Amino acid sequence: MSDEVRVEVHPGRETVVEFDPDLTFECVDSCTWCCHHGVLMYDREYFELGKRANLNEATTQFRGQDFIKREEKDHDNCAEDGQACHFLQEDGLCELHAEHDWKPARCSVYPLSVRREDGEIRVDIRKSAGEHCEGMNVGDRKVIDNLDAFLPEYLWELENPDSEREL
Ligand code: SF4
Ligand code: SF4
Repeated sequence: MSDEVRVEVHPGRETVVEFDPDLTFECVDSCTWCCHHGVLMYDREYFELGKRANLNEATTQFRGQDFIKREEKDHDNCAEDGQACHFLQEDGLCELHAEHDWKPARCSVYPLSVRREDGEIRVDIRKSAGEHCEGMNVGDRKVIDNLDAFLPEYLWELENPDSEREL
């Protein structure tokens, strides 16, 4: 019998957990590292974003896929090259989250990675998170007990939910 850890995240939506089940996570607001990048939009999110922002200003295409832009910022919450996600505010918060209580799936998923293999959704920790995410093993909120907050249900409906694709 397989000793893989399986969790039902939403009714009928199961994932295989490949990270340490004892991992805890609490996002550190002052970190902002994962908001220094361009964010891949899944198709249905592109239209959701369009209800909340100007798509011409906020997005770009790369290899046939839509991304939220990475751009020059006039504040310090950015990468060494002075750029960050279009929606990252000076206070380190996400404009989409602050004003619309919404954010793209890939922003919810971080610091996890998602991939489909043999028809199953598998979640692990993103390699970059081990090096850069300050929220790992902070606090006592176990990731495995809160996977529904990281993994929107529609990830299970996507042919390719791979969250490693980057701008
Ligand atoms: S959309 Fe918001 S949460 Fe996602 S990377 Fe941009 S600022 Fe961060
Ligand atoms: S890298 Fe981790 S701690 Fe930093 S903002 Fe992103 S999720 Fe939060």
